[in-house]
Amino acid sequence: MRGLKVGLVEASDIASGTSSRSSKLVHGGLRYLEQGEFSLVFEAVSERRVLMDIAPHLVTPLGFVFPVYKRSRRGVFTVNLGMWLYDGLSLFRSPKIHRNLSRKEIAKEEPALDNTDLKGAPLYYDCATDDARLTLENALDAQKEGAEIHTWTKMVGFRRDPAGRVSGARVRDMITGIERDVDARVIINATGPWTDTVRGGPKPLLRTTKGVHIVVDHSRVPVNNAVVCFHPSDGRVLFAIPWADRTYIGTTDTDYVGDPADVAADADDVRYLLDAANVYFPAAQLTTADVLSTWAGLRPLINAEGSESSVSREHEILVGSDGLITIAGGKLTTYRKMSKEVVDRAVALLRLTAPAQDFREAHTARKPLPGAVGWPQDDNLASVIRQIQEAGPVDEPTAQLFARTYGMRGVEVAASIRANPELGAALVEGRPERLAQVDFAVAHELARTVRDVMIRRTQLYFRDHDQGLGATERVADRMAMLCGWDEARRTAEVLAWQAEVAQSRAWKE
Ligand SMILES: Cc1cc2nc3c(=O)[nH]c(=O)nc-3n(C[C@H](O)[C@H](O)[C@H](O)COP(=O)(O)OP(=O)(O)OC[C@H]3O[C@@H](n4cnc5c(N)ncnc54)[C@H](O)[C@@H]3O)c2cc1C
Repeated sequence: MRGLKVGLVEASDIASGTSSRSSKLVHGGLRYLEQGEFSLVFEAVSERRVLMDIAPHLVTPLGFVFPVYKRSRRGVFTVNLGMWLYDGLSLFRSPKIHRNLSRKEIAKEEPALDNTDLKGAPLYYDCATDDARLTLENALDAQKEGAEIHTWTKMVGFRRDPAGRVSGARVRDMITGIERDVDARVIINATGPWTDTVRGGPKPLLRTTKGVHIVVDHSRVPVNNAVVCFHPSDGRVLFAIPWADRTYIGTTDTDYVGDPADVAADADDVRYLLDAANVYFPAAQLTTADVLSTWAGLRPLINAEGSESSVSREHEILVGSDGLITIAGGKLTTYRKMSKEVVDRAVALLRLTAPAQDFREAHTARKPLPGAVGWPQDDNLASVIRQIQEAGPVDEPTAQLFARTYGMRGVEVAASIRANPELGAALVEGRPERLAQVDFAVAHELARTVRDVMIRRTQLYFRDHDQGLGATERVADRMAMLCGWDEARRTAEVLAWQAEVAQSRAWKE
């Protein structure tokens, strides 16, 4: 949007790193208030408002119940004060202003929540999102604006001019193995937990901590709002978050050393989360057998002293003496603002060598992301669902899934089923995901592997009882046909996908 010629290389799939492994909240981070990080909270709640406008299909209001017990560290009065501050920092433009629930109201709102010694609970509002799709839609939008996007393409080495400044990169297609050189006047290193690997140098910029979530059937922890809990053993904040037919619970926060690609939940992580869930939802008595899936992500935190949870989430932009720009830290919620700042830095560098070039302002705060184009002003989901059902023969649960997944682009997916009824086949019997989504992912959403489709385009990996393994053949066959894979590639795809599921289940052993 700013008159730059841009290329993006992503070593794996878009959002395959931390950005599909977050708590999936677009939030101000109430707990940062306690740490006095007001500017961070203000920035985040302002961005929450922007994202609700530019991606209303992906950033949706969610109620948060904050139970206060006799044993709680903060009383109802203090928590309520914090809520006023939180609403105030958003200039009272929160999705809804908070209110205090009495014990009786809590029992009605969250009947599964333990109400022994419960004193009250504010109900406040933040937003839920699909982190992977929010990231993807930004990439798709950039592509529409002319950016060249190459997934499964890794930067394997910088090229430098005689003065030692970075002047390009060698990139490798991780699927075909083909390498090529790319020239660039400016390079931005935005590689999350891989920041230090890409940057090199003796002093790490990051301290990475691991955060794990577990997914259970919603009927086992039937929350209507996100419930904010404090872990009984160490007092850390956890959430139990409703997710259609599932509930997910997270997160842990432990230091991590090792290859970011290997991060996975272990048995201690799962036990830690189950312990907390069983205190707050005593009737559930969850066991490891209830855990349908897990995900683990690494927080790319700026290195700082102190315990894991007191490390600041704010971001940093560094320009090395070789001209490499690095951006690290931050939150998904503030991605747009971080992007703007880092592109400002790139533009400043470019101006040194091309003062006459015209660099425009970006209007990312106003431009709807692809799925939001045509979304009703009043957020009337029912009308979107109706349009989707008019476009193609899909039942209500599938239309709802399409609306929430693709926004208005769901109409296109449904229409593809009308044009080719074969695409209406369910990927997993009894679930709403359809074969048409595989075609759409390959044709319009940069999907190149079975993992891309199973994990981040459809979320079967997280939501299905068997993590989507039952749909493997169907998806692999379809992708082989669409992408022209030979038998060897098809087999390799299936094995890589099964290995990823196995990694997420390794904690069971
Ligand atoms: C458990 C957890 C919960 C969180 N919850 C929230 C939340 O609810 N709300 C919120 O706002 N934030 C949350 N965050 C923070 C947020 O998710 C992260 O700050 C954000 O996703 C980081 O994005 P990133 O682009 O920096 O890193 P990533 O998403 O990891 O992206 C880096 C990418 O770089 C690629 N890469 C690496 N090396 C190379 C190379 N050599 N060449 C090309 N590509 C390369 C990787 O493949 C990767 O996809 C959470 C984080 C964690 C871990």
